Amino acid sequence: MKISERGKKVSIIGTGNVGATVAFILSMNGTCHEVMLRGRNYEIALGKAIDMSQAANAARQHTIVQAAKVPSDISDSDIVVITAGSPRTPGMSRDDLLITNANIVKNYAKEIKEYAPNSIIIVVSNPLDVMTYVALKESGFPRERVIGMAGILDSARMAHFIYEALGYGAGQIRATVMGGHGDSMVPLTKFTTVAGVPIEDLFTNSEIVDIVRKTRNGGAQIVELLKTGSAYYAPAKSTAVMVEAILKDTKQIHSCAVYLEGEYGARDIVSGVPVMMGADGVERIITEMVLKHKQKESFQKSVEDVQNMVDTLYRLNFFKEGE
Ligand code: NAD
Repeated sequence: MKISERGKKVSIIGTGNVGATVAFILSMNGTCHEVMLRGRNYEIALGKAIDMSQAANAARQHTIVQAAKVPSDISDSDIVVITAGSPRTPGMSRDDLLITNANIVKNYAKEIKEYAPNSIIIVVSNPLDVMTYVALKESGFPRERVIGMAGILDSARMAHFIYEALGYGAGQIRATVMGGHGDSMVPLTKFTTVAGVPIEDLFTNSEIVDIVRKTRNGGAQIVELLKTGSAYYAPAKSTAVMVEAILKDTKQIHSCAVYLEGEYGARDIVSGVPVMMGADGVERIITEMVLKHKQKESFQKSVEDVQNMVDTLYRLNFFKEGE
């Protein structure tokens, strides 16, 4: 059945802060007909689903939010968003966390392959680029249907810090961030404008360096303030932007994490690049952006960081044939 004949369904795996907030945004905007919350704990998922369905009624929206009782409840999803993930706990190394979350994503990718084989997967769980790689390999989906959320968030953070430095232009700032979601992200000042004016004409070099530093530190700043968790409003909104781009077939350009096959010099790895998004997911990777030498170097370094983590998974035999 075509999407238009049966209404659009978005399943969200993981009903924590990001997952629940994505569901809330979608239901408040009436972006789809059905949101299916798939959590570890059915009652919590159900409680949130009922609460949101009631909110949708208050907002005069048609979206129904439901909770998945069994894995097959995600069947017929047009999009499945993976937000399940464990936070780092005391005594846990980065590699331990990598393996823990890779296993979570692996299990759900298999579930999606079985019950929603035609869906588009949006990955949010961290470490983002590696988890997108895992979801791609374990689902066996083509690369245009497995997309990581990071660039839209990092770009929004950069726009925020530009506004903070300027004191005007909020909502008119177009920032572009490429590369991995982490310390080695690559904010592209050359392609960043305020109402069309390049920021390189608005700030001194050292002011731009400060904006870039704040952008890289944007997530950590919020963790430090919240103390018990990480940011979720901007991450959830950024994810909802991707969902809308697909369901509304907008063909707009967003920075997203995708599997690269030679684009920007990277192969068999996931990293953030500008892509055109539409009903088929990533419909085109924009390769026309000419990077400065330093930006190319930063992008390469960022890809290497992700490659190191993927190599760790291979070393630990994580991707076993036939499993
Ligand atoms: P959270 O702790 O509020 O929620 C995590 C959810 O994952 C919970 O519902 C929990 O039950 C579930 N979960 C944990 N272990 C699980 C397991 N073994 N099996 C199934 N489900 C499990 O966290 P959050 O703030 O919602 O963040 C979710 C993920 O998104 C984290 O990995 C976080 O680092 C990541 N994140 C990514 C970005 C990005 O830019 N890509 C931004 C923010 C958060």
